[in-house]
Amino acid sequence: MVNNLHIYNTLKREKEKFEPINPPFVGMYVCGPTVYSESHLGHARPNITFDTLFRYLKHLGYKVRYVRNITDVGHLENDADEGEDKIGKKARLEQLEPMEIVQQYENSFKFNMAQLNILLPSIEPHASGHIIEQQLMIKKIIKNGFAYETNGSVYFNVEKYAKTFSYGKLSGRVLEELMENTREIEGKQEKRSSYDFALWKKASPEHIMRWPSKWGDGFPGWHLECSAMGEKYLGKKFDIHGGGMDLMFPHHECEIAQNVAANGNEAVKYWMHNNMITINGQKMARSLNNFITLKELFTGNHKLLEQAYSPMTIRFFILQAHYRSTLDFSNEALQAAEKGLRRLMDAYKTLQEKLEASEWGIVVNELEEQCYKALNDDLNSAKLLSILMDGVYMINSIYDKKYQIDETNLSKLKSIYKTFVEDILGLKDESVANNNKELIGGLIALLQEARVKAKTSKDFATSDQIRNELLKLGIEIKDKKDGFDWSYKM
Ligand code: ZN
Repeated sequence: MVNNLHIYNTLKREKEKFEPINPPFVGMYVCGPTVYSESHLGHARPNITFDTLFRYLKHLGYKVRYVRNITDVGHLENDADEGEDKIGKKARLEQLEPMEIVQQYENSFKFNMAQLNILLPSIEPHASGHIIEQQLMIKKIIKNGFAYETNGSVYFNVEKYAKTFSYGKLSGRVLEELMENTREIEGKQEKRSSYDFALWKKASPEHIMRWPSKWGDGFPGWHLECSAMGEKYLGKKFDIHGGGMDLMFPHHECEIAQNVAANGNEAVKYWMHNNMITINGQKMARSLNNFITLKELFTGNHKLLEQAYSPMTIRFFILQAHYRSTLDFSNEALQAAEKGLRRLMDAYKTLQEKLEASEWGIVVNELEEQCYKALNDDLNSAKLLSILMDGVYMINSIYDKKYQIDETNLSKLKSIYKTFVEDILGLKDESVANNNKELIGGLIALLQEARVKAKTSKDFATSDQIRNELLKLGIEIKDKKDGFDWSYKM
């Protein structure tokens, strides 16, 4: 297997040559959604980024086990362990069973991900289905002396951990700074320090989602599920852990601490974080009224949106930027992406269906090398797309007979575009016409039959009307000796 893939390891702050521990197997864990509301733009970027990586690793010949969890318990309103459980709160407000909330938003998340052409991960474990694994991990951490129980809750002892290991190494935070910046929350004397985090929280009497434990009825802390499920499905040491940059602290920092405290070693070899998105230059937040769900984006139903943007436009737009750079959403930028995608997909169709080979012509070997080079350089999808867009000119020029290409190079070119556009970047032609070819063909044949009948009975008005109405819809019918032919009128 030829592999020169270098990826940026957040932990080491450098690009490293990716080497799986047991080639060709790769374990990859990505933090999934907390399913208590519609998925939004913030979900699109990490999932598209790591889907592209998943697709690329598979293309390179690795056997990838991709785990993306579903958080259905333990994620409190305030990420620092305070407040009500996000799902429990929604269930209480809507008078529903918490698992109804989970099911509803999990279905909608999966539907949105499918719209974005994101492949299903290999395993999608739920936090609520792994309470035993989480309890076992807590017991190990307590046994190793890095957690303590107070009043039915168990907290991770950050200060003690930091004496032996480095807490904050992933996010680059220093414990002394954390100590200065975290204020003591009134009435929360359970924790020895304000930056200690919960592994297990005692459930108050009104708390709905609760499980029995040796510390009493309660529920696991949010950070714990990823450590426990990562270990269960990928082992004590695995290759890649991904997520958005906003998860680096405290979530991923806590994950590292939990794994080290339980097993004595870090679980993850490479940490990968995608950068954040902004909307018209501002951070996306419900409080700023610029919070856009994927559903709103795909239907155009939001006051900041001038129109609907298709899932592939969003995918193309996100891939146009390198995953580690910030990305600003604006109508202008999305409209430009929509045009770019159209140009690419039109050329792709021309290449696959219309180009003809000549005796001799251009050679495309270098193009393939450039595409691999771009992705091998820390998954630079932006660079890859610009190379593929440059190729659009070449494809159109061959179609216009300005350039020529021979049979071997033409099939090579077809295969390069198929591999990179469709298989790895996951872009597909969304046009209704293309996706419903059979249906549309059938309907046209039906109308044509009616037209022929009208003609036979000398009802030329009806026959012309059918032809003209179809023409208005962009479909041209041509009568032939033995039947008819139709095509889209450009
Ligand atoms: Zn996580």
